[in-house]
Amino acid sequence: MNNKDAQALLTHIVARVQPLLSRGVLPKYIPQLTHVNQLQFGMAFITLDGQEAFVGDADVRFSIQSISKLFALMLALERVGDDLWSRVGREPSGRPFNELVQVDHEAGATRNPFVNAGALVVTDILCSCFAQPELALLQNLRLGARDERIDIDQGVMRSERGSCHRNAAIAHLLKSYGSIRNSVETVLDTYCRQCALAMTARQIARCVLPLAADDGLSVAGTRDSLKAAQRHSVVALMLTCGTYDAAGDFAARVGLPMKSGVGGGIVAVIPGVGSLCAWSPGLDESGNSIAAARAIEIFASHTGLSLLGAREWVRAAP
Ligand code: GLU
Repeated sequence: MNNKDAQALLTHIVARVQPLLSRGVLPKYIPQLTHVNQLQFGMAFITLDGQEAFVGDADVRFSIQSISKLFALMLALERVGDDLWSRVGREPSGRPFNELVQVDHEAGATRNPFVNAGALVVTDILCSCFAQPELALLQNLRLGARDERIDIDQGVMRSERGSCHRNAAIAHLLKSYGSIRNSVETVLDTYCRQCALAMTARQIARCVLPLAADDGLSVAGTRDSLKAAQRHSVVALMLTCGTYDAAGDFAARVGLPMKSGVGGGIVAVIPGVGSLCAWSPGLDESGNSIAAARAIEIFASHTGLSLLGAREWVRAAP
């Protein structure tokens, strides 16, 4: 697909998702995120050979929330390699992302890095590797996006830190089982800062692009970091666990490895081709953006760039 075709498809998608923008809810448990204008939509598509197509609010910054779990995982894997998997699993949880009971039931083991328990362990690993882990992450993302304007939204950070009672409970539970090594406060502070990173769809797509490459590139574009097997683990986790408890349904509907966040962003990897990020704030009951999910589904079905190939019936649906 050339850049002109990609741009035309994105323009078509914006029109298709307009009726969906007012649907869904904003995440009330992070009060600051309820002040966002829900009628926004942006999308960016970037190819490995350097073409970029974008549309709508693709350059508006939003709260990346759980998409930060993907970036934290990539950085931690770069640092500690496969030892990470001795502390975090690679199985879907079958439970909500902020589940407490499973952590207790499984004696402090964490199912995967995309549920909050696993993400807190990944953050704990970063806290052991860096004096200021959120700055290491920020620097990595600025390099990957080739854009210095990425930053932590302090208002969102304070809002979440002041109301992160479930994550605090999970972190204390993990600590009681010896699953995190730094103090609970340190891990929670860092976790809330990473979730409060504000980025645009275009910046996110750029940072995820290395996962689509056949050779080993890091987010920051250096060649000596994630090994192929590690990238395969990350991409497989995105497919099986990246969209909360709806990942199985998304695999069947869209057929692409994705990671979503309650800020309304969804990023997708198209192996061997490129990356795609869509954003719109209204969420469905599983925590995924309704319009962003539909946009990526339409993209995949039109282009056939998906495990499922091109699907006429999805193209025709409203
Ligand atoms: N900061 C949010 C939390 O930990 C992230 C949720 C999300 O985007 O899935 O609850």
